[in-house]
Amino acid sequence: ALSSDMRCEEKEVPTEVQKEVGAVGPVHIVLAHEDDQGFSLDEEALERLLLREEVVDLDVVVVSVAGAFRKGKSFLLDFLLRYMYNQSSSSWMGDAEEPLTGFTWRGGCERETTGIQAWGQLFLVDRPDGSKVAVMLMDTQGAFDSQSTVRDCATLFALSTMVSSIQVYNLSQNVQEDDLQHLQLFTEYGRLAMEQTNEKPFQRLMFLVRDWSYPYEHPYGLEGGHSFLEKRLQVTQQQHEELQTVRRHIHSCFSSISCFLLPHPGLRVATNPAFDGRLTDIDEDFKRELFCLVPTLLAPENLVVKEIGGAKLTCRDLLHYFKAYMKIYQG
Ligand code: GDP
Ligand code: MG
Repeated sequence: ALSSDMRCEEKEVPTEVQKEVGAVGPVHIVLAHEDDQGFSLDEEALERLLLREEVVDLDVVVVSVAGAFRKGKSFLLDFLLRYMYNQSSSSWMGDAEEPLTGFTWRGGCERETTGIQAWGQLFLVDRPDGSKVAVMLMDTQGAFDSQSTVRDCATLFALSTMVSSIQVYNLSQNVQEDDLQHLQLFTEYGRLAMEQTNEKPFQRLMFLVRDWSYPYEHPYGLEGGHSFLEKRLQVTQQQHEELQTVRRHIHSCFSSISCFLLPHPGLRVATNPAFDGRLTDIDEDFKRELFCLVPTLLAPENLVVKEIGGAKLTCRDLLHYFKAYMKIYQG
């Protein structure tokens, strides 16, 4: 197992994650229709998740990873799963030769679909303040490659941002002007759905930049991400009016925004078709940063309960909002 060379401080967290027996996998809860007919919610699948007796009345934490195809979302989510299943252990990353499983390599022949998947079980976590919460992991996938897909994906991303406590916006190499514009578009949809309240419509946003290649300008991790993002989101008089608006808008939508810079995972991960996710094939730099990133999102003391209009949501409430938001977009 890893750990001796890890830079982050290791904490023994007295947390009890209850494993479910039997096979669990990702579940499609929102599906995009091929013929441009919008989206549909699999209410039954969502109910099976959220109305389970052990979770239904608990406060809910929703962690979503969103972005385009083939940018390593599932790969990251598989490590989030490892953390959730091995939380009380500092060697949560697993054994060196163990293939990754979860979102990625399960049912690998399935076509890549636009939509939202959730992990087929919620995780129960005891927080330091004594409260128990249920944690839901989501994978939001879309494509921004044509006018119509841009619009559809904006809707999809708005939906997943509205129901999540933290949205991880997964990007490759940099934060481009395009990425910001897509973000503006989908936050626009979100504001529409939340016009009545004065609260910021969304909770947390994390820009996750993969394959960051300028560590000498902004170092890997959260701090480098912070200085990079500050620069990237800065509003200046010299900017075109439109660029200024995008930036202001993004700030006005989220109660907190962060950024994490991840190194390239190495050529075996990126190019070897036989790669199965085992740790020995992943670059040390990447593993070190991943070892910091995952607890930043999921450690019990960092979990943020989903709130709407200042009120905490239980799993039951979340189901209700999911349905309500779907109606808005279908209507
Ligand atoms: P998703 O479609 O966004 O879920 O992407 P996947 O997790 O399925 O990964 C797509 C491909 O990119 C796979 O071959 C992974 O091994 C590889 N990959 C995973 N993480 C990274 C990364 O951080 N950088 C690069 N360059 N490739 C990655
Ligand atoms: Mg995927």
